[in-house]
Amino acid sequence: MKFDTVILSGTLVTENDVFEADLGMLNGKVVAICEPGTIEKGDATVIDAKGLHIFPGLIDVHVHFNEPGRDQWEGLDTGSKSLAAGGVTTFFDMPLNSNPPTTTKERYLEKKQLADEKSIVDYRLWGGLVPDNIENLEELYQEGAIGFKAFMSECGTDDFQHADNGTLLKGMEKIAQLDSILALHAESNEMINYLTYKTKKEQRLSIRDYCNSRPVLSELEAVERVLSYAELTKCKLHIVHVSSKRVIDRIKEAKERGIDVTAETCPHYLSLSVDDFEEIGPTAKCAPPLRERDEVELLWQSLRNGDIDIISSDHSPSPPEMKTQGESIFDVWGGIAGCQNTLHVLLTEGFHKRDVSLSKIAEVTAFQPAKRFGLYPNKGSIRIGSDADLTLINLNEEFVLKTEDLKYRHKISPYVGKTFIGKTLYTFSRGQCVFEDASSKTSV
Ligand SMILES: [Zn+2]
Repeated sequence: MKFDTVILSGTLVTENDVFEADLGMLNGKVVAICEPGTIEKGDATVIDAKGLHIFPGLIDVHVHFNEPGRDQWEGLDTGSKSLAAGGVTTFFDMPLNSNPPTTTKERYLEKKQLADEKSIVDYRLWGGLVPDNIENLEELYQEGAIGFKAFMSECGTDDFQHADNGTLLKGMEKIAQLDSILALHAESNEMINYLTYKTKKEQRLSIRDYCNSRPVLSELEAVERVLSYAELTKCKLHIVHVSSKRVIDRIKEAKERGIDVTAETCPHYLSLSVDDFEEIGPTAKCAPPLRERDEVELLWQSLRNGDIDIISSDHSPSPPEMKTQGESIFDVWGGIAGCQNTLHVLLTEGFHKRDVSLSKIAEVTAFQPAKRFGLYPNKGSIRIGSDADLTLINLNEEFVLKTEDLKYRHKISPYVGKTFIGKTLYTFSRGQCVFEDASSKTSV
């Protein structure tokens, strides 16, 4: 058998197994997985992976690369290079923060063309559900939108309106007809507006005041409402960036009564608390906000229990001045830049510090996203016949994340200065080497 590239004696990590093997790739596919030391190398490029772990390429279902229109915030080129450096081989770009947002077929096709030109990894695009585009959902679906995204609260830019209850109901009915899926930013607009008004009026403008103005209760209220709508319309749901076990538990109860819903959380909710936010400042502002330390630990419990389906980054950067302008933390841009370090956070905080299994990490970053969004078995695991989307990790190598390591347009991230254990050495996207660490031994 002939190969383009062979990886010798690596430890393969899948959603249900960890084992040593030789692996052969040809024409972008995994074509051989065999006993270590048995593969015929021929004239293939050879990587000696003895002692290294090979994860399935991550699928990040939640990024904002902001192109077209706001590529000064990030961009499909810098964004996709950041992902490759973190072992991510497929991303789903959100419909908002690009301007115009992805709410019609024309805008979808414009973004698709840009992504084809600029991205170095695979991608899919979310369509938007906003109050005036119900009649566009079908054409977006026909063009290949992976699903639809709606906001239940204001999103921070004026060009993507949040979905009122009527829009949600009508949109969910349509999305159910299409057999597509709705992703929701679920925070209660009414509760947040009320609390923000009150807090600002009383001149309580600290970081903790900001967090308290968007309590877990506002997530719970929104999630319960939309779960009822899902029961009524039979629309499939994906609740993005859940910050608390209490919300995860509510989603779990809904699953038990037959609602087709999945839960996502992000590395920042699993690693940073309000105390860290106070220390780091605006770089760590996001919505829902970071929670108290005990909530962070409870989320890990949810992950262990199998109640979290997907971990994605919600990479949402902005130009640096948007993180400094304004009178208080309430006015600065809310969004964390972190997509380069999802796996590093999970290996360090999960595997090394909390004994979370490697298979669990592969499950929530690759297998479950692929299953949920119809990309399995081409993607999501390491199998014969699947796309050769792989990342090679030295599980015990420590590194301190430096500003200059970041591939983002703006070298800003709350993880700068953090010590990670588990370093990305190579990333392959459909057999092409899209990232190689300078210290790795074999040049591909
Ligand atoms: Zn987001």
